[in-house]
Amino acid sequence: MSKLDLAVRHGHVATAEGMAYYDIGVRDGRIVALGRDLPAAKVEIDASGRVVTPGGIDSHCHIEQPMPAGVRLADDFDSASLSALCGGTTTLVPFAVQESGIALPETLAEYRRRAESRSRLDVAFHMVLAEPHAHALAHEIPAVIEQGCTSFKVYMTYEGMRLTDRQILEVLAVARREGAMTMVHAENADCIDWLTDQLLAAGRVAPHEHAASRPMLVEREAAFRAMALAELVDVPFLIVHVSSPETVAQIAAARARGLHVHAETCPQYLLLTAADLHGDAHEGAKYVCSPPPRDDRSREGLWAALATGQFDVVSSDHCPFGFADPLGKAAGLGRDFTCIPNGLPGVETRLPLLVSEGVLAGRLSWPQFVALGATQAARLYGLYPRKGSLMVGADADIVVWNPDDERVVSNDGLHHRADYTPYEGMRVRGWPEWVVGRGEVLFAQGRIAAEPGRGRVVPCDRPLPPRPGVAALAGGK
Ligand SMILES: [Zn+2]
Repeated sequence: MSKLDLAVRHGHVATAEGMAYYDIGVRDGRIVALGRDLPAAKVEIDASGRVVTPGGIDSHCHIEQPMPAGVRLADDFDSASLSALCGGTTTLVPFAVQESGIALPETLAEYRRRAESRSRLDVAFHMVLAEPHAHALAHEIPAVIEQGCTSFKVYMTYEGMRLTDRQILEVLAVARREGAMTMVHAENADCIDWLTDQLLAAGRVAPHEHAASRPMLVEREAAFRAMALAELVDVPFLIVHVSSPETVAQIAAARARGLHVHAETCPQYLLLTAADLHGDAHEGAKYVCSPPPRDDRSREGLWAALATGQFDVVSSDHCPFGFADPLGKAAGLGRDFTCIPNGLPGVETRLPLLVSEGVLAGRLSWPQFVALGATQAARLYGLYPRKGSLMVGADADIVVWNPDDERVVSNDGLHHRADYTPYEGMRVRGWPEWVVGRGEVLFAQGRIAAEPGRGRVVPCDRPLPPRPGVAALAGGK
């Protein structure tokens, strides 16, 4: 075999299937050989003592989305992709959001343009359906599927975004007809509105009241209802950012009945609690997101659910707002909790936190980490095996992890444009040492070599079901 462009040698390689020692050979941006005694390469990466995985896929992030008046996101595709890269992610799957009066193909084209001009990483899109009118359902959805956008998100809450049950049924029916994936944000909007009015009337306006306005049961109820709607239509779907074991139990019951319901959770539900919203004065605003983080019992329940294969995906739900920014978290200063924009930064810390608190803390195996952080998202959203795998022929998206690299998280060391991280001061062990994207070294021992605009928009195929039982891989340490 002639010379390789790049080789990763001597590493302990983890995929969703298991772990083994072998070398990886790359040519023309793709993996071309796995094994020992591969030919020489122009670029040699020595991964001795390191763990080698497919590049991470973050399938829930909000980038360059227009926000309601008076609020803006802190990152664009440049800074979000830089931040993701430094945390071991090589593919982003953010949302393209339908706007009133604009056809879905036009919306997709606009978001693709944003990503192609600034992203340092490859990008694919989900489409948020805020107005599933007849023309969108009949013509625009099939058109964007044809263009490689095969997953659609619907909201059960948020004014201006929330769909009625009838509308959700219509979207699910189209997803069934077209073989697309539907993602659902499950919270009961009427319960939240009613509770919010009670809290405000009682003068309870502090940031931590945000958590009181959306307790666990508003998620549990909406998740149950979403599953009933999907059962009626008989279609697989995914519930995003599941925050509580009560909801996990509902999902397990539905799965036991044979429903193909998939589930995602995020580091904030595994590591934060509602107590974090109780900071001095406005400090709690840093942790305001929906659903809110819960309690210790809930965190432990979610870790247990991850370990036993009840979740398919861990994403960041990166939705960064500046803390001091009057168009960010400070929009809520001196006002009530409803004026604080919902969301946290987390695209860079997602995988290191999962390595540190999951794998190295003994809660997850490396193969589970790969499944949750990359492979299952690739399958669910039609990117597999091009992304999320180390198969011959796959894009050479490869991360070399140093499990001995321990750092105290500090916002100064992160690359997003938010002025805080919810994980400030946490000791985190296991950071990327090398990141390769389509065969190019993008990150080398702290040095960043990826330029804005190198990222490509990757078209998605129809989704594949995740492999049953990530839980069965628990022994693959
Ligand atoms: Zn989100």
